[in-house]
Amino acid sequence: MSKTINFGIDLGTTNSLIAKFDKGQVEVFKNPNGFKESLPSVVAFRNDRIMIGDQARNYAGRDPKNVASRFKRKMGTTETIKLSAGSKTPVELSAFVLKELKAFVHSGEQVEAAVITIPASFDTVQSNATKEAGIAAGFKQVVLLQEPIAASLAYANKEKSIDLRNSQWMVYDLGGGTFDVALVKIIEGELTVVDHEGDNYLGGSDFDALLVEKLVVPEICRRGKFDDLLAEMKSEKGKYNRLWVRLLLDAETAKIELSTKTSAEIDVNLEDDEGSSIDFPLTITRSEFEELIKSAIDSTAEMMKKILTRNSLRSEDLKFVLMVGGGAYIPFVRKRIEELMGISVHASIDTTNAIAVGAAWFA
Ligand code: ADP
Ligand code: MG
Repeated sequence: MSKTINFGIDLGTTNSLIAKFDKGQVEVFKNPNGFKESLPSVVAFRNDRIMIGDQARNYAGRDPKNVASRFKRKMGTTETIKLSAGSKTPVELSAFVLKELKAFVHSGEQVEAAVITIPASFDTVQSNATKEAGIAAGFKQVVLLQEPIAASLAYANKEKSIDLRNSQWMVYDLGGGTFDVALVKIIEGELTVVDHEGDNYLGGSDFDALLVEKLVVPEICRRGKFDDLLAEMKSEKGKYNRLWVRLLLDAETAKIELSTKTSAEIDVNLEDDEGSSIDFPLTITRSEFEELIKSAIDSTAEMMKKILTRNSLRSEDLKFVLMVGGGAYIPFVRKRIEELMGISVHASIDTTNAIAVGAAWFA
């Protein structure tokens, strides 16, 4: 067994990544299928086959009952994820994702030890469940690291000229399904999470759902006859459940486009309750999207303020806000947080891989 740990893993609710520290450099490995750095944390079961990542994610449009995602939220609970293929525990599903990440390591070396990141909010039971998933995936040694610490390490190693001693900052992490914000500072030479807040049900996928519910569905209803379209879409047994799953994926694509463009289109096609075909492109503007997510973003600022109040701090006492997670790409998020908090927001590091990179530095 190797004596050093040099792999860092971001085991995310939505996306997971693996990176390695070697000779002063960090490499983020790419998926040999598709050459993306991130692997969707999704597992699908199709007869005897198990699909992990993008393939599993796409399969959700065809057979949602055999696709498991967002199981990180259930880590450390006794809840199981019920699929037609049988019940799976969050630990088992996480182990599948970890095993798949190991296959990203093209050098052929054994991946026996790793630093795996966890949210600052994870308690001992949730932390132990994460370790257990690592062992089930074949790691001989697993070291846990808090995500805001990993992000801060990635930042400190990128911006070497910034002196972080005697200062404190917040790490704002808007992921796919969860929001976490942490107050971090160096105490006795060690990066420490002093306080944190979060919402386990606020993230990018909620924005996708808002786009479908508030913009796409009303337009579909204007064009066709439906009894209760939204209910038939959202219920797992509903007539239009597969359409819901498909539209969510299209809404996500549109949302990502809106981070760099001022408008995006979603193609809608279906048959209404009377069998008439409905087929149209829906244009969504960036300002419509911003209006939809505004109250969610404002609630994240409220959580930041709670941390400040609890710790008798003012905005000016923070050196910066470090933004990570896929949501940090949304220009409105950065702008709104700067505006509401009056603190400069740094997003100079690659917000999607920062946590894996930081974990590798730590390793
Ligand atoms: P997690 O920490 O939950 O694993 P991530 O930090 O990878 O998740 O964030 C995933 C979320 O970020 C998804 O909802 C995805 O749609 C969103 N996202 C990714 N890239 C962008 C982008 N360029 N603009 C807006 N949202 C994005
Ligand atoms: Mg994350």
